[in-house]
Amino acid sequence: MRRKLAAGNWKMNGTNASLTELQALIAAHPTPQVDILICPPATLIVQAAGLSADSPLMIGAQDCHAAASGAHTGDISAPMLADAGAVAVILGHSERRQDHAESSTLVAAKATAAHAAHLTAIICVGESLAEREAAQTLDVIAEHLRHSLPDSATAANTVIAYEPIWAIGTGLTPSPAQISEVHRFLRAELTARFGAEPAQGIRLLYGGSVKPANAPEIFALADVDGALVGGASLTTAEFSPIITALE
Ligand code: PGA
Repeated sequence: MRRKLAAGNWKMNGTNASLTELQALIAAHPTPQVDILICPPATLIVQAAGLSADSPLMIGAQDCHAAASGAHTGDISAPMLADAGAVAVILGHSERRQDHAESSTLVAAKATAAHAAHLTAIICVGESLAEREAAQTLDVIAEHLRHSLPDSATAANTVIAYEPIWAIGTGLTPSPAQISEVHRFLRAELTARFGAEPAQGIRLLYGGSVKPANAPEIFALADVDGALVGGASLTTAEFSPIITALE
């Protein structure tokens, strides 16, 4: 039985003042029936982890370097994130693939580093609108999945997030049939590579314009084990009903 996961990605948003939202989130969900993870900017991980230390809320990061340490100005390694209190890290988000030209091969190296530091890797895959219109969605997903997942991936240390690029921050979402098609495909690809039992345990999140209004319909789909939420994770007013819809 896969435990459901509501993951929030704050992206490049949030200062110390935003920690009041975390306090409100902790107060609103003292005994959640699902896992709750917030990935604030790296500058807030230590404070956020301290705030949530005695609560079920988990804190994650949005990226890591593939090396454990060294001459990489401006970068942050997986062991550093773990030391700061993170338990997970988002990898291969489309904004990183686009803004920083991250390849699937690099994402896999980062995931290997995350696993070595005992962080859960939340690995993002997803097609652009042009790719969907050209009927290349499953080919793109297959490429992302095959090359972004290292052999060290297990149900315990890896989560896959399906995030169609055209649905991120746009208010557009795929139809339930489109989400189901990709999630079924992901499960089949994972089964082919890792075997039925490990593949059954790996959680598959949907991400892209998840809001309180559309969350119940998305969470009713088989093979959707939760969500990776951007904009709606910034406030407890919006994220809390999404968590409740998942429970
Ligand atoms: P959104 O972002 O919920 O704001 O669309 C999702 C994401 O990029 O993870």
